[in-house]
Amino acid sequence: MAEVVLREVMKNYGAIYAVNNVSFTVADGEFVALVGPSGCGKTTTLNLIAGLIPMSGGDIEIGDRLVNDLDPKDRDIAMVFQNYALYPNKTVFANLAFPLQMRKLAKPDIEAKVQAAAKVLDITNLLERKPRELSGGQQQRVALGRALVRDPRAFLMDEPLSNLDAKLRVQMRSEIKRFHQDLNATIVYVTHDQLEAVTMADKMAVMNGGLLQQYDTPANVFAHPLNMFVASFVGSPAMSLIPLEAAGDALRSPEGWELPLSPANVRKAAQSSTKSIVLGARHSTLTLHRSAAPGAVPGKVYTVEPTGDITFAQVFINGAVVNISVDPSVIIRPDEMVWIEFDQDRMHLFDAATTMALQAA
Ligand code: ATP
Repeated sequence: MAEVVLREVMKNYGAIYAVNNVSFTVADGEFVALVGPSGCGKTTTLNLIAGLIPMSGGDIEIGDRLVNDLDPKDRDIAMVFQNYALYPNKTVFANLAFPLQMRKLAKPDIEAKVQAAAKVLDITNLLERKPRELSGGQQQRVALGRALVRDPRAFLMDEPLSNLDAKLRVQMRSEIKRFHQDLNATIVYVTHDQLEAVTMADKMAVMNGGLLQQYDTPANVFAHPLNMFVASFVGSPAMSLIPLEAAGDALRSPEGWELPLSPANVRKAAQSSTKSIVLGARHSTLTLHRSAAPGAVPGKVYTVEPTGDITFAQVFINGAVVNISVDPSVIIRPDEMVWIEFDQDRMHLFDAATTMALQAA
């Protein structure tokens, strides 16, 4: 397998910058998820790596080769799409063998490669069937197998699970992860589903508006989002964001209450370009109180969503919707007044003007 390097990659359609100055390196054997909302430039980035569309600027390397001017077929990559594009009249064996026949491999080599790929993907018993005789998950495995037999330097996958039902998607998620681990494959994987990215990838490239917002491990992106977009995109339920004002060693709400800050958070707040600060907090870091408590701020329960293991609730604080979670044994009701305590070590402060996370100087 090979490293994939993007350097200042651009793609514009007139005034629309689908991919705007994107740089990142996928190490050999690494699984990278390109993730972001619809229209953020994920598929365009993948298609640029594949060579399916020309770049407007920048460089792409696969292995040690600059591939800017190479045709897709000469880039040694394999693509897996959401529609599996299997040949309906060919058996699974023939579907897998086809790319190898095109490359004029000898029959015994083709047989060996197809059998090896079928073994990895556990589809040996399906080799004589036609695609219509397979379930969605089995078809997806055949599509992976067809990519695998080509021995590519990298796999490029565009939402390969989005046509599957929810249960199968979760199952195939672990199968693709396993596929990656077993083969030590370099994979670039496009998804709009942040959970898919967080659970599968070694690193995630979070995109918005053609710009790369953050490129890091899922754990780091989750714990240290660089800006408000990443903070609200990664994690489910989303991180809550509450607009407030810096007031000395506290944050002040227009509703009249103040939230005292720890010395470390005071230093962060002091870095803001204006007094407008957005407080970010994940549900798992918040503590619910039924009456006023030191360091807790008042809110009103909006909705309550029991899920069995955990009960989520949305609480209005200072006009912002704040997601909290409690043990199912805790009964809370809509319109009830509650007090929410923030964990000073796990809260996030953002500069409201720049949307960037504030760091202590
Ligand atoms: P989705 O998840 O909906 O597939 P995406 O993140 O993959 O979205 P892209 O398909 O990469 O987004 O598109 C990025 C931007 O470029 C969008 O604003 C899209 O409208 C624009 N775009 C893509 N292809 C073209 C084209 N051929 N001509 C003009 N604009 C395009």
